Amino acid sequence: MLRFAGALLTVFLAVPLPKARAQEPKPLPQADERYKVDILAVVAHPDDEAAVTPYLARALDEHRRAAVVFTTRGNSGENQAGAEQAAALGAVREIEARNALSTLGINNVWFLSGKDTASQNVLLSLGHWNHAETLQELVRLVRLTRPEVILAFLPGTFIGEDHGDHQACGVLATEAFDLAGDPTVFPEQVAGPIKRSPLENLRAWQVKKIYFFPDADREDIFKGKGPSYSVKEVSKLGGKPYWRMALDAFRSHQTQAKSYLDRIAQMDEAQIEKMATSDDGWGEDQHYVLGKSVVGGSVTGDIFEGITPGAVAFVRPEIAPEPARPDVSVDLGGPWSFYTEFRRAHGLMNLPHPEPPEIALQAPGSLVIPLWVRNRTAKAQEITISAALPAGWTADNGTGKFTVAARQTAATRVEVNLPAPAEKPSDKTPKKAEPQEVTVRAEANGQVIGEAKLRVELRKRTLPQ
Ligand SMILES: [Zn+2]
Repeated sequence: MLRFAGALLTVFLAVPLPKARAQEPKPLPQADERYKVDILAVVAHPDDEAAVTPYLARALDEHRRAAVVFTTRGNSGENQAGAEQAAALGAVREIEARNALSTLGINNVWFLSGKDTASQNVLLSLGHWNHAETLQELVRLVRLTRPEVILAFLPGTFIGEDHGDHQACGVLATEAFDLAGDPTVFPEQVAGPIKRSPLENLRAWQVKKIYFFPDADREDIFKGKGPSYSVKEVSKLGGKPYWRMALDAFRSHQTQAKSYLDRIAQMDEAQIEKMATSDDGWGEDQHYVLGKSVVGGSVTGDIFEGITPGAVAFVRPEIAPEPARPDVSVDLGGPWSFYTEFRRAHGLMNLPHPEPPEIALQAPGSLVIPLWVRNRTAKAQEITISAALPAGWTADNGTGKFTVAARQTAATRVEVNLPAPAEKPSDKTPKKAEPQEVTVRAEANGQVIGEAKLRVELRKRTLPQ
């Protein structure tokens, strides 16, 4: 038997194999086209998508494919529709957001694991979210959905709602824009599969453009920094004005806006239109700020100007040089110094930001001014910190003399007590209090080494600093 088998094998090997020679090349699996999009909108909380839904409705008319990423499930805040709180509320809000977007026909909706963090400090949000984990998740989704364009909240701090989570989603979106095209970043995501391994078999993907929408009260500094879109045209697909499609989508957000939605439910069409096109915001043009483009196009041109189908090569972000500083220097710290570094590191030197920096705070209350004091000299330096404050404001802490060791950078903070905002004038016209300027001055050896200025607006209610 064995001999016979051997002989057979010899014959088999000697004869050419016609069947194998005619075999067609086997196609390797391709990326899943169902998830390829033109636009990836990155927002922080369920209901934030309303900031882009009028534009998304327009883009769908133009046969663009859109996906939305929520960086949190919106697991904090009051629940206007039921008793559910915390993680349960987040689960409900995930469904509300999915329902809102499905009214527009957008079902490509994803959630990151960030935790809803109520403050104006982007660094607190990034800390609570586990920055590394959420960034990894977002880079994965960029590689999975392969967007041409990302839209996200503008990474910056302003007088406005100024939600730290909104800012953090802009930070994450920018980082993902710069990293998703680099195959050395999270390389396990782009590695070819091995059986039963965690390797993901995605491909690096360079997004072509990133645009931001600001979460700021002021509009002046954003003018001319990107395209604007009217929301009043009637959608070809939806048969309604874009603002109205956005409002209809928003009706899903019962846990956040039940009382508002109940009021709308009582209105007739004419009343809804009057409300939307007056002071309510639904009828306002949508403004975007161009973050950057790797395919050219003009600043105020259409979002898709310059974009042609197909992948483009990875573009490493340009890093702007570090500003020159004296040997002993003082700068605003916290989110303010972070954003200065962030714009420099991500090629966003044209991104609008208020100068001097600004913040709105609840008063009575306190303002914390974080400072970096740098001493590059070879000896310890005695620094004197003083604060020039509006009448009635007092420095509680952080002024006076202290030393910074040789070649050290020290973090310190000045704490300012804020009085109650001025009463409304008696003529019943509720006038907003103008922001007031605060100046922190640092001196060494009798010389001023630097000043940090802030414009501060006092309000009855804001998110904590
Ligand atoms: Zn939000």
